[in-house]
Amino acid sequence: MNNIETTVCIIGAGPSGLLTYDYLMKYNIPTVIFESSCNYGGQCTAFYGNKPINGIPGLYNTNASEFIQNIYNQCINKDNLILNASINVLDIKDDLFYLQNNDNTYVCKYLVLATGASSMKPIIPNIKGIDNFIKDNDFIQFYCSNFEQYKSKKVVIAGGGDSAVDYAIAISNNTNNSLNNVVLLHRRNILRCDQNKLKYLNKVNLKLNQNILEIKKNLVITDKEEIQTNNIIFCYGFTYNNNFLKQLSDFGLILDNNLVKIDLVSMETSLKSCYAVGDVVKYPLKKKNIISCCFESERVVRAILNKEGLYNG
Ligand SMILES: Cc1cc2nc3c(=O)[nH]c(=O)nc-3n(C[C@H](O)[C@H](O)[C@H](O)COP(=O)(O)OP(=O)(O)OC[C@H]3O[C@@H](n4cnc5c(N)ncnc54)[C@H](O)[C@@H]3O)c2cc1C
Repeated sequence: MNNIETTVCIIGAGPSGLLTYDYLMKYNIPTVIFESSCNYGGQCTAFYGNKPINGIPGLYNTNASEFIQNIYNQCINKDNLILNASINVLDIKDDLFYLQNNDNTYVCKYLVLATGASSMKPIIPNIKGIDNFIKDNDFIQFYCSNFEQYKSKKVVIAGGGDSAVDYAIAISNNTNNSLNNVVLLHRRNILRCDQNKLKYLNKVNLKLNQNILEIKKNLVITDKEEIQTNNIIFCYGFTYNNNFLKQLSDFGLILDNNLVKIDLVSMETSLKSCYAVGDVVKYPLKKKNIISCCFESERVVRAILNKEGLYNG
């Protein structure tokens, strides 16, 4: 077992982890960032690489994967980004964190949790017939990172949140589909997405107040009609499995519904010198989006610099 000492360890290389890593390296703070999957970028690369990112001032029509690649390219040192990492918390003692990855023990002064939605699994709705198609990825999907596949096809997007609406807008724009080809189907009479997005649904066939009763091959049967379609994308959210946070909770990390409570001024969690950024964080009026990741990662870096006596206002 090798002992590797560093100042900061970041867990998770989604946008918030990558941004924190980038800032810290620019301030010459020795940092290692761990990512459990085989790629960096978190939800941006895993779930919507081809979709333009909304809501970042000055960033227009930039795809999520391009955005992540830009952040990665601007990192001055990529050597300490460790992919396929499976981290266990060994101990916290004498104000140091001991983390294990394979045969290495990493010892650090500060720990930054950027685990986001962590190991996300899409919620599979309980709909008659769905089990017959769950492995038929050509028909049923739970996210899409390549909109080209829907060109000239009929697509039903089920859900009423931001992801469903974003997909509907992106697919209707990217594929030159006719109005009837992209259907957004929601069980309530209003969409619960950011209401500013509604004006971009002009090429989308919006069907509200409809419940899906059954799925057959290329057919969605609701309580109001039958819709022929080549694809159906379910955007009903995700369930989370975060063993790493559970391990930390044994040492005193306070969790609220799998999310981490922080002090908004310092971004410090209930564990001393353990910070959190991005979607994993919970505080009043928190919105899970990239602009929050940017703000929070910048804040964590300031807090660490301050503790190191390097912050000069
Ligand atoms: C379909 C969709 C569309 C979206 N569109 C937009 C948009 O247009 N604009 C916008 O602002 N936001 C959008 N969002 C939200 C945005 O993507 C998230 O807010 C953002 O990705 C959160 O970043 P994060 O780094 O906190 O978490 P994540 O992106 O979830 O990344 C966390 C990373 O940590 C890794 N990880 C987790 N646990 C561990 C562990 N124990 N060890 C090591 N690694 C671990 C994960 O594998 C993952 O790579 C969208 C989200 C979705 C799903």
